[in-house]
Amino acid sequence: MKIQLAEHYGLCFGVRDAIAQAEELATRGPLTILGELVHNPVVRERLARHGVREGALDDRDSAQSTQVMITAHGASDKARGEWRNAGFGVADGTCPLVLQAHEKLRALVEQGFVPVVIGKRGHVEVNGLTGDFPDACIIESAEDLANLPTAARLGVISQTTQPSEKVLALVDAIRIARPASEVRFCDTVCQPTKNRQSALRKLIEECDTLVVVGGRNSNNTLQLVAAATVAGRAVHHVERAEELRPDWFRAARVVGITAGTSTLKETVATVRIRLEAIATELSLAAH
Ligand code: SF4
Repeated sequence: MKIQLAEHYGLCFGVRDAIAQAEELATRGPLTILGELVHNPVVRERLARHGVREGALDDRDSAQSTQVMITAHGASDKARGEWRNAGFGVADGTCPLVLQAHEKLRALVEQGFVPVVIGKRGHVEVNGLTGDFPDACIIESAEDLANLPTAARLGVISQTTQPSEKVLALVDAIRIARPASEVRFCDTVCQPTKNRQSALRKLIEECDTLVVVGGRNSNNTLQLVAAATVAGRAVHHVERAEELRPDWFRAARVVGITAGTSTLKETVATVRIRLEAIATELSLAAH
């Protein structure tokens, strides 16, 4: 059994910097992060060991300190302002690429476009993007096209971690559904997500089995799992090395490893070591 690592995988710079910011803030005093800093249990446990607590962006009573921090997924200006007005110190862990998506949406609205966001309804990043624009329309799938407003100008962006192909297909579908509207699209899928998606395509070509490492509620990890499953590969989604079972790999010849953007490189390294041990075990058992 051969093991192959994706060309691009795991922790992106946005998550890396947000973790570093939280750990640094925690050295200065109590800190509450307003949500899961990233959707990854290993990272959350590490932050908890630094004394960082978790609260909820929409619940002022959930803060266990006067210093709070917005997660890498961002928040609306309205939500930020409400915390400041309530007397909290608000540190911002929003990824610069999420901020860029906010700026692009704001610019579209200022130019008279009705805001449309392609993304997962209820996801914290999408809530943040749409929070300042009550008339924003969220398109998660083709079924939502029926909710598109009839407007002269539609300004479309997407959640940063959506698959590019899906976003482009939905933009085409929006143009078809509203032929009389001017549809302006700003591509806000982030480069680290695009890199991981294209590295996954390569891995799918080369492997019969894939291990995807990442949080069970991490959107971009689930996208990697979905893409590999649709391609017909055997896919195993794990959060950590201990979950790997030798049984899964009895028929495997080439096993690819990839990871979501909130997965620590150390976690992927331990998964690789465990897989190598499983490969040795299976090869010894076969002889
Ligand atoms: S996935 Fe992209 S947008 Fe999200 S934190 Fe990472 S770099 Fe930023």
